[in-house]
Amino acid sequence: MDIIIIGAGLAGPLLAQGLRRAGVGATVFERDRADQLSQGYRIHIAPEGELAMRDCLPPELHAEVLATSGLPGSGWRVLDPQLRTIQEHLVPQRADADGPGGRHLTVDRQTLRRILLTGLDVRYGAAFERFALLPDGRVRAEFAGGASAEGDLLVAADGTHSRIRAQLLPQARVIETGTWELYGKTMLTDEVRALLPAAALDGFCMVAGGDGRFMPLAAHRFRFGGDDYVMWVVGGPAARFPADVSTLDQHAMREAAAQFVTDWHPSLSAVVRLGEPGSVHFTTARTAQPLEHWTTVPVTLMGDAIHTMIPQGTSAAVALRDAGLLCRRLTEGAALLEAVRAYETEMLDYGFAEVARSLKSAG
Ligand SMILES: Cc1cc2nc3c(=O)[nH]c(=O)nc-3n(C[C@H](O)[C@H](O)[C@H](O)COP(=O)(O)OP(=O)(O)OC[C@H]3O[C@@H](n4cnc5c(N)ncnc54)[C@H](O)[C@@H]3O)c2cc1C
Repeated sequence: MDIIIIGAGLAGPLLAQGLRRAGVGATVFERDRADQLSQGYRIHIAPEGELAMRDCLPPELHAEVLATSGLPGSGWRVLDPQLRTIQEHLVPQRADADGPGGRHLTVDRQTLRRILLTGLDVRYGAAFERFALLPDGRVRAEFAGGASAEGDLLVAADGTHSRIRAQLLPQARVIETGTWELYGKTMLTDEVRALLPAAALDGFCMVAGGDGRFMPLAAHRFRFGGDDYVMWVVGGPAARFPADVSTLDQHAMREAAAQFVTDWHPSLSAVVRLGEPGSVHFTTARTAQPLEHWTTVPVTLMGDAIHTMIPQGTSAAVALRDAGLLCRRLTEGAALLEAVRAYETEMLDYGFAEVARSLKSAG
C-alpha cells in the first residue's frame, strides 16, 4: 500500500511515523521548504495527543518528545488587566502519567515537528494543487510546477485552508468567528522574567479584559535543551485591530500587538515589545461547521483540514488522535475503503464534538 500525505504539520508526520512502524509506505508532501518550518511557539497537547504519539512513534522519538517538553506549572489562572488573579485552577501532577489516560504536555511546536519528521520520506517545496481519482481505484496528487504522485490513498493533513477539502467536500464550510489574533514569543531573559506575572512563569495564564480582548501568556521552560521563552497572544474583536494588520511587516505587527494592550498593565506591552519580530504572526479564529459523512473514496482528511476549531488548547491533540486512529484502521487488515470509512465515521463524531465544545467554552 502507498499512502500520499499532504502536509507536514502535526497530523501528517505522525501518521507517516505510525505507518512506517507498521511497514506501510508513506510519503509526506509539504508546501514549505525544509528551511521554512519556523512555527516555534508553545502549544499544549491534551492527553489523547500524547497517547497517539505513544502509539505511532518509535519509543526513542516518543522519549525525545517527553524530554524536550516544557516543565509543568502548577495550573492555569485568569488575571484582570492589572494582573490581579481572578480565577485559579491548580492541576496536580499525576503519579500515573505513563498510564492509559495519557498526559498533558506543553511542547515547542518547532521542536515537536523536528522530532515527528525524523527519518521520514518528506518532499519539501511540494504545493499540492488538485487530485484525480483514477479508474484503477488509485489516486493521483498533482503539485504546482507539474509534478504528480500516485498512491492507494491520499490523506489531507494540509490544515485549515485545505485544498483537498475544497475539492473533495465543496459543501464543507469554515466560518470566521470575527476574532483576530497576533501572537509571538519573547525570550525569557532576566528582564522579561521580572516583567512577567508569576502566573505566566508557573503554567498558563489568560489576561481577560471585560471588553472582548484577551491575552494568553505562558512560559515554555524546556526540560532539556532549547532556549526558554514566553509565548503571548493578543486577541479580540476584529474591529479593535488596525484593518490592515495582516499586511504589516513583523516589526509593525509586534507594535500593533503592544498597542492592543497599551491601556493594560504596562508590563504586558513591554513584554510584547521585547518579542522576537520573526516570531510575530497574525491569524483569525475559525470554526468548521459539522457536515454529513460523504461517500468514502481513496481520499480522506485529518486534523484542521476537516475540523478546524477555535483555539482552546485541544485541536492539536485531536489532529494527532486522527493520525493514530487512521494508522490503526489502515493497518488492522480491513479492505482499504472499509478502513477509511470506519476512520471517518469515528473521527467526524469526536472531531465535531470537540469543535462544539471549543465554541461553547469560548462563550
Ligand atoms: C499561535 C497558535 C497557538 C496554538 N496553540 C495550540 C495549543 O496550545 N494547543 C492546541 O491543541 N492547538 C493549538 N493551536 C492549533 C494547532 O496548532 C493546530 O490545531 C494543529 O497544528 C493542527 O495540525 P494539522 O496537522 O492538522 O495542521 P497544521 O499543523 O496546520 O499543518 C498543515 C501543514 O500543511 C501544509 N500545507 C498547507 N497547504 C498545503 C499544500 N497545498 N500543499 C502541501 N502542504 C500544504 C502547511 O504548510 C502545514 O505544514 C495553535 C495554533 C496557533 C496558530
